[in-house]
Amino acid sequence: MASYIPYGRQSVTEADIAAVVDVLKSDFLTQGPVVPAFEEAVAAETGARHAVAANSATSALHLACMALGVGPGDCVWTSPLTFVASSNAALYCGADVGFVDVDERSYNMCPAKLQEKLDRAAASGQLPKVIIPVHLTGQSCDMAAIHAAAVKYGVKIIEDASHAIGGRFDSQPVGNCRFSDITVFSFHPVKIVTTGEGGMALTNDDELAQLMRLDRSHGITRDTHAIQAENPGAWHYEQHRLGYNYRMTDINAALGLSQLDRLDDFVKRRQHIADAYDTAFADLPIRTPWQHPNADSAWHLYVIRVEGQRAVFDALRDAGIGVNLHYIPVYLQPYYRGLGFEPGHCANAELYYSEAISLPMFPTMTDEQQQRVIAEVAKAVSEAAPR
Ligand SMILES: *Cc1c(COP(=O)(O)O)cnc(C)c1O
Repeated sequence: MASYIPYGRQSVTEADIAAVVDVLKSDFLTQGPVVPAFEEAVAAETGARHAVAANSATSALHLACMALGVGPGDCVWTSPLTFVASSNAALYCGADVGFVDVDERSYNMCPAKLQEKLDRAAASGQLPKVIIPVHLTGQSCDMAAIHAAAVKYGVKIIEDASHAIGGRFDSQPVGNCRFSDITVFSFHPVKIVTTGEGGMALTNDDELAQLMRLDRSHGITRDTHAIQAENPGAWHYEQHRLGYNYRMTDINAALGLSQLDRLDDFVKRRQHIADAYDTAFADLPIRTPWQHPNADSAWHLYVIRVEGQRAVFDALRDAGIGVNLHYIPVYLQPYYRGLGFEPGHCANAELYYSEAISLPMFPTMTDEQQQRVIAEVAKAVSEAAPR
């Protein structure tokens, strides 16, 4: 039988490997010069003023929530169609979470639903402190509309752009924080650019950047301007906040920095694969991804919607096609059910969940592999819903 085609896979070159080996032979495996170099490169790529690397996007989301002062008694809203980390970050801070249903076409947080929910929350004095829109599949949310709805009530915004480095909104790079306080990227191997494990928080706000830098390293500072002790010795450092060890290593950063050179190629290849899927499925009973006119997706995922989803999914897995489903609506997770969430909470997200399938999408997928995926999808769909 033909070999298994995964839904996502990293692309690692000899140049990437050499960059990592260089760090291993150097003086610093962590807290050396490569992390700041990677941060500067991502800041330059996106146009954000500050970039704070972390050991995962989950950590970066937690740092972002802490920097914005999220704590017990606060509420944070996100999308139900996301990885659990987007909402867990708020729970780590002791806050409550809420979910804003998605737009029926883009599957991203719906600005009109957000507006309604904010108006209602304002009337009952229960506004969220922060919202975390998620750029599902690599396509930016309608950030102009989301920003307009949130600023009216002084609600802060963290973009979960784990899928979306290399994407654009209004022709500008995702990550420039034009419509948000902080933007977070993930560098997990299935994402667009990888560091093994890793993440980054971008912001244009000097104070937020400084807080995230503090909290990623135990809340400890050696900055002479911040030190409170008088006449401190050369060994002196001070802990000012309860931080964590969320640092990225230089080994990881070297891989990311080397990968970043190929960001444009990665996104172009993914776009090409998406176009080929669109064309192949045009005359089949398959709903292909709708694109917002202002968004250029990074194409982390290619999600189709079909009737008979379960049969199609199982047939594809049986045929060696590594389909997946992104995501189970977060609030349907047993842990979240335990917090009181019930099925039916976000109707669009649940309808999506009953029809969606993520097809293989990664830059090193060959045309032959894609043709095999297309043929198997066509076959599975015709067998699941005979005409
Ligand atoms: C992958 C992902 C995360 C978590 O990223 P890690 O780097 O694995 O911690 C968070 N949110 C979304 C939407 C993701 O896809």
